[in-house]
Amino acid sequence: MPIRERIKKFFSAFLFNPKWKCSVCGVENFSDSIFCEKCESELPFNDGYICAHCGRKTIAATEFCSTCAEKMTAIDRARSVFVYEKSIPKLIMGLKYFNQRYLVNYFGEKLANLYLQNYFGADFIGYIPMTEKALSKRGYNQSRLLAEEVSKITSVPLYDGIEKVKETKRQAKLNRQERLKNLEGAFRVFERAKIKDKEIVLIDDVSTTGATAQAVADKLKRAGAKRVYLITVASTPPFEKY
Ligand SMILES: [Zn+2]
Ligand SMILES: [Zn+2]
Repeated sequence: MPIRERIKKFFSAFLFNPKWKCSVCGVENFSDSIFCEKCESELPFNDGYICAHCGRKTIAATEFCSTCAEKMTAIDRARSVFVYEKSIPKLIMGLKYFNQRYLVNYFGEKLANLYLQNYFGADFIGYIPMTEKALSKRGYNQSRLLAEEVSKITSVPLYDGIEKVKETKRQAKLNRQERLKNLEGAFRVFERAKIKDKEIVLIDDVSTTGATAQAVADKLKRAGAKRVYLITVASTPPFEKY
């Protein structure tokens, strides 16, 4: 690790020592947890009704959410630890843009537990890659850091054979047509032999529209992967109508 990187790492661990401050509200916190008791008890775990396919929170016990009832995608099954609400957006911002890497340990452990609970039994752990340019700007890919952590805990090897070759716009504000166009040709699988007939679990921070992970899953399937699953730290609930 280069010296600059090492210094940065040391200071970020020092500044964001989870034993001193709650990661959500910032109050002094001397427990072993990275949260104070109140914030910990209010974490929005995604443990109520969920869609059997995409794993998003639903408001009633139904097999599939309205989106999945309409179409099935290249992702065979998805699950998420949290619902993307309350304190979770802030924590994910910290993970993504403010180098709060201790969250990788916390979320990595939760993701690994979810993986084990769901018996995915995958051959590889994958992640959503960034372009070289975006990576050098941010300095790290949170999706890869989480995947590394899950790989370490579960002993399932990391798959590094996907690359992002085109910059894409943010998906959230685009409609379905624009999304597909935006993602066209964005990802490339360059290590194909390794994943032929194999099962891969993709790890990511948030699933909002799910379109990015689907584009990656589609490439993996075309390259010969048998099944592709997705586990995210959080997912937004679909807009259900009941
Ligand atoms: Zn707190
Ligand atoms: Zn669904």
